Amino acid sequence: MYKIVLQGVSNNHEYEELIKLFLRPDEYEICGAGDASDADFVFVDQGDKNIVKSEIYDELTQLTGIRPVWGILTGIRPVKLAGELVRDAERHYERDAYAAARRKMVSYYRTSGEKADLALDMYRLQQETFGVPPDKTVGVYIDIPFCPTRCLYCSFASNQTDYSETLRYMEALYREMNFVADGMKEKGWSAESIYIGGGTPSTLEAADFRKFLLKVKDMFGGPQLAEFTVEMGRPDTITAEKLEAVKEAGAQRISINPQTMKDETLELIGRKHDSTAVREAFAEAQNAGIRVINADLIAGLPLETAEDFDNTLKEVRQLGPQNITVHSLSVKRASKLVEIDKDFHYKQAGLVTEMLEQARSYLAGCGYRPYYLYRQKHMSGAQENTGYALPGTEGLYNVRIMDETQTIIAMGASGMTKVYFPEENRLERVPNVSNYEIYIERIDEMINRKKEGLFNAYERT
Ligand code: SF4
Repeated sequence: MYKIVLQGVSNNHEYEELIKLFLRPDEYEICGAGDASDADFVFVDQGDKNIVKSEIYDELTQLTGIRPVWGILTGIRPVKLAGELVRDAERHYERDAYAAARRKMVSYYRTSGEKADLALDMYRLQQETFGVPPDKTVGVYIDIPFCPTRCLYCSFASNQTDYSETLRYMEALYREMNFVADGMKEKGWSAESIYIGGGTPSTLEAADFRKFLLKVKDMFGGPQLAEFTVEMGRPDTITAEKLEAVKEAGAQRISINPQTMKDETLELIGRKHDSTAVREAFAEAQNAGIRVINADLIAGLPLETAEDFDNTLKEVRQLGPQNITVHSLSVKRASKLVEIDKDFHYKQAGLVTEMLEQARSYLAGCGYRPYYLYRQKHMSGAQENTGYALPGTEGLYNVRIMDETQTIIAMGASGMTKVYFPEENRLERVPNVSNYEIYIERIDEMINRKKEGLFNAYERT
């Protein structure tokens, strides 16, 4: 057990996130300043937290031989940082702003050269593809927190309830949607992108699904709308009728999320369908003429080998999705997996790194480009989740939510609205509660939070 002292630090959290990339929680303890004399490591914050973090990084790399590829970055948005570094270099008249940003990522933030290149290439692609958000536009997110079963690794607000509960939820949601739509109209705001997520929104029965999507279209559709995505993650919730509703509502992008094409693993992670259902769902979506289909995959699922992952990649690729999002398995606190093995992500580190490399080179060979990424806590190998797209099919909402330069209005249980103040380049968060029953009970309060925190927020500044 290593004793670590953090001196002059007001909040240990960020430093511990970094320490955990090297040592499991049972391998170290954070001690008070009084224990410095017999501590293994003493780190002193003298005003720049990144310097302390790089000292931690260097010392623990030396101790363990582990060299986390994202260096001292523990946040979820490395591409956003890459963009800030480029813009900062431009402000300082650097001849090659990208090269200057790369140097800073590698030397100051300790990222690997490969990850620095990945983040900077993505930033460049995002700028070329989407640029800055048009004035008075927002992103709209709506959450349907129900799924047919709960996946082993899930930490979302995903509920399995009687359908009458789902309908009760929808009534509360419609009240919030109405309020937001009216508020947006009054302010002259329009949606640039709409994302229906969850949960699995297609858990709704066909008639309710159609009613919901048409309401979304009426309330938030408009000339500025560039993208409308509906998650239909579970193939066993997809029917021709629901796909028709997606088309009728004007959505062009859906997500069908197999995670793996290995039937044994699908069963192990708690899915109620097999890989044949995935193939059928793709065929139906293509017949319906959906323009962009995304497929989510997870690298590092229990008992899977690099060969299994390779098979999944190839099989999914053959189904013809325009987007493929490759996640690194992460062991989240609210998941069932954490109860089985809270250290599983440490064990998977090497394998997941190998799988991600497989994905990167295979998908590049098939014409897909990585266009957005984000990181999470407790990820195997301290890696990242990466969205790949065929050119011209990149997901706008995914880029905006990571870039944080546009207000995102989130409705429904667990929706986290982010109000963006461009003059100060600052965000304020307006959360909804995540429990769907409490959301229904306290819908007036959720609406009031939006009124104060979102629609009245700009008047206060
Ligand atoms: S489909 Fe997604 S939201 Fe639903 S249980 Fe699985 S991981 Fe959770």
